[in-house]
Amino acid sequence: MNILLFGPPGSGKGTQSALLVEDLGFTHISTGNMFRQHIHNGTDLGKKAKEYMDEGLLVPDELTIAMVRRELEEQRELDFIFDGFPRNVAQAQAFEQLLAELEMNLDSAIFLDVPVDVIVERLSGRRVCKNCGAVYHIANHMPHEEGVCENCGTGPIYQREDDKPEAIKTRLKVYDENTAPLRELYERNGRLVVIDGDADEATVYRKIKSQIQTKKM
Ligand code: AMP
Repeated sequence: MNILLFGPPGSGKGTQSALLVEDLGFTHISTGNMFRQHIHNGTDLGKKAKEYMDEGLLVPDELTIAMVRRELEEQRELDFIFDGFPRNVAQAQAFEQLLAELEMNLDSAIFLDVPVDVIVERLSGRRVCKNCGAVYHIANHMPHEEGVCENCGTGPIYQREDDKPEAIKTRLKVYDENTAPLRELYERNGRLVVIDGDADEATVYRKIKSQIQTKKM
């Protein structure tokens, strides 16, 4: 079973994906995490992607699609949760072709619905472990020992370049122009599921899980 989780930046896609991986054994494909890993490893792709990411812009489609293709070709028999891909209509079309080629299906496109003011508050206070990607928030969830990640025991805990105010503005605009139209596209092809994402993690997760279990029956 393959699921797409989409929604505005900061809607909780990463957090909910991690819960799906832990609870239901999905394999997580997050193009944002993959690009950050390339940057960390200093690859050519990482160097190119960084120029766009730091500004809050989308990395060009051909680089993104080729990266996802390489990942799927190696392990197409698994159950995937796609997080942050596709992010525009051209990527969604390329994704359909890729799935057909690899004889894979997309079962649901789950949209996490969160109001803009909540998004801005979540993103601007978000802090991340540079080593393992664990997510924190300055308002209510920071490591007990300053700068030391509770998940991996190292750190540092930092603010993503694209969580700074100017980049947040750009990302919301990029989202409205590029990613929001996917909602209509998946509604037309009958795969859209809308979940209210303006609640605590556990509540949102319960709703997602129940949708997935309904699909499986
Ligand atoms: P995320 O971690 O999903 O918020 O992604 C962080 C950044 O990575 C985005 O703002 C883009 O610059 C880049 N990125 C992630 N996924 C994609 C994608 N599917 N297409 C283009 N750029 C992407």
